[in-house]
Amino acid sequence: MLVLEAKLKGKTEQYNLIDEAIRTALFVRNSALRYWMDNKGVGKYDLSAQCAVLAKEFDFAKRLGSQARQSSAERAWSAISRFYDNCKKKVSGKKGYPKFKKRGNSVEYKQAGWKLSENRKYLTLTDGFKIGRLKLVGSRDLNFYQIEQIKRIRIVKRADGYYAQFCVDVDRREELEPTHKTLGLDVGLNHFYTDSQGEVVENPRYLRKSERKLKKLQRKVSKRKKGSANRRKAVKQLSRKHLKVSRQRKDFAVKTARCVVRSNDLIAYEDLQVRNMVKNHKLAKSISDASWSMFRDWVEYFGKVFGKVTVAVQPHYTSQNCSTCGTLVRKTLSTRTHQCSHCGTVLDRDHNAALNILALGLKNTVGHTEISTPVESPTSAI
Ligand SMILES: [Zn+2]
Repeated sequence: MLVLEAKLKGKTEQYNLIDEAIRTALFVRNSALRYWMDNKGVGKYDLSAQCAVLAKEFDFAKRLGSQARQSSAERAWSAISRFYDNCKKKVSGKKGYPKFKKRGNSVEYKQAGWKLSENRKYLTLTDGFKIGRLKLVGSRDLNFYQIEQIKRIRIVKRADGYYAQFCVDVDRREELEPTHKTLGLDVGLNHFYTDSQGEVVENPRYLRKSERKLKKLQRKVSKRKKGSANRRKAVKQLSRKHLKVSRQRKDFAVKTARCVVRSNDLIAYEDLQVRNMVKNHKLAKSISDASWSMFRDWVEYFGKVFGKVTVAVQPHYTSQNCSTCGTLVRKTLSTRTHQCSHCGTVLDRDHNAALNILALGLKNTVGHTEISTPVESPTSAI
């Protein structure tokens, strides 16, 4: 089980409702405990059954989704069974007799009572508390999993706000023989990437063709009169093309990433998120950035699947320094060759950069090349 966390953003009324749900979950837990104390020989299933009784008795308990009530009862049971275990094992000293809790800080939902938006950016809580739609901050990793893999969602209150913890059922893990190879990747505007072996991977021809068509359609739309039937038609064409191109791009990113990760033990690349924050208006540039960040996501994902190391390095001076001797060799964007007057190295500019990126990646991972957590793949995408 993997736990992914995202911060929740909502309105004050929503936060108040979350507080109420948390209080109710605590009430259910404590009531279940009381029931166990008062009745001899009560087991786990009796506590579950007790949840329905509580819901009938108390309106506010009914508002909490039935599965969330169940998990509150399960929490009581886990405290009880811990106590039983300690008794059985004859642990010396205190056995940890279950106690009533005064304050709760979380409520847990199973596979009902919530909905996640398609893009994984919003969580909607749908049970009787009607908390509604909350924005998720930092939920990018959730995109790697299917909804069915999310077994539980815990809403946690902390000093600095509210969080959602997603418990993801993960078991996919593929063992590969180590390749004893490492690779550095340099992203280019002209090529998809250049690696530290000097290998250049081009953007596929079909993608370039589609992108050209996309541009053409965009021009067509802007030429048509606003509100006209022709414009509507052109817009429709454009959005269909967009969809096609984005699917092709994804397909290419997945295949390339899979191949790169499988054939290397360590993959280093530049951490270009900083650069992405600078808005750029050049279409070619933004397309390359978008493809690259998608590719990077998949490299990191396959790194987890295949137990490989992936490192993002700071993109400072990677193109300017000499990969052989470290001397700073200044070049403008149009200088395509790296020529070091200090040691005599002559390399393609991007190849030199890829070597620097690999060196930085290796330096950054010394001592912590542990294998990442196993993950499940979005099967439809591979
Ligand atoms: Zn040099």
